[in-house]
Amino acid sequence: MDAAKAAPPPVLILLGPPGAGKGTQARMLEDRFGYVQLSTGDLLRAAVAAGTEAGKAADDVMKSGGLVSDEIVIDILRDRINAPDCASGVILDGFPRTAVQAESLDALLVESGQRIDIAVSLEVDDEAMVDRIAGRYSCAGCGEGYHDTFKKPARPDQCDQCGGTQMKRRADDTAEAVGTRLKAYHAQTAPLITHYEEAEVLHRVRAMGPIDEVATALGTVVRQATATA
Ligand code: ADP
Ligand code: AMP
Repeated sequence: MDAAKAAPPPVLILLGPPGAGKGTQARMLEDRFGYVQLSTGDLLRAAVAAGTEAGKAADDVMKSGGLVSDEIVIDILRDRINAPDCASGVILDGFPRTAVQAESLDALLVESGQRIDIAVSLEVDDEAMVDRIAGRYSCAGCGEGYHDTFKKPARPDQCDQCGGTQMKRRADDTAEAVGTRLKAYHAQTAPLITHYEEAEVLHRVRAMGPIDEVATALGTVVRQATATA
């Protein structure tokens, strides 16, 4: 073994239905571990806002709560994961969401000599997800996430992170689209939990408690998984 060869950057996956807290926890893990959050939802919303071909193709599907085509999502993820800032490690938030995406990710990581260090399933009850999503908003400046009840900024309508005062809500956080997104999660994404269990990288974290409690439990499993990697 070449002792001088650096270990490849860690790859973490956060699985869970819409509203489980993937984005919230990914940002906290970024601060704590120095990894970069890669949210395919954020990347797609940026593509929609920029009016790219991928964004135009994804826009209506996202509004309805359906899944964007594997081809578009994989292309977007591939471009981003190879960027220099990802060399410290990545937290995949909202990807993979289908079996095809999971296979593509495996192939992509083989190319770069990486592997999945840990996949965490954030375990929540569907009923609570509707409340979480209905109250979700974020800072238009830095993207920090908030909630009408569960995570209010210290000063009303002022971001704790960047001081920005423009808050926004997502176009797909409607009751109708949430129902479609939950169905898509159970039909196409939940089976990946078994996939990662078989690959022996899966950890389950109960995510029904307060944000800080979930962060503590998640931090413990991530620290253990990356220490023994
Ligand atoms: P996801 O990325 O999985 O769709 P988010 O991280 O955006 O979910 O969380 C959805 C909403 O629920 C946000 O408004 C967030 O502030 C809130 N939230 C996240 N985790 C919890 C939690 N453990 N308890 C209560 N609310 C939470
Ligand atoms: P999210 O921000 O993760 O809640 O994703 C918002 C929306 O973007 C989803 O409802 C999908 O329409 C789309 N999307 C995000 N990630 C993926 C993915 N990995 N595969 C397919 N569609 C995705």
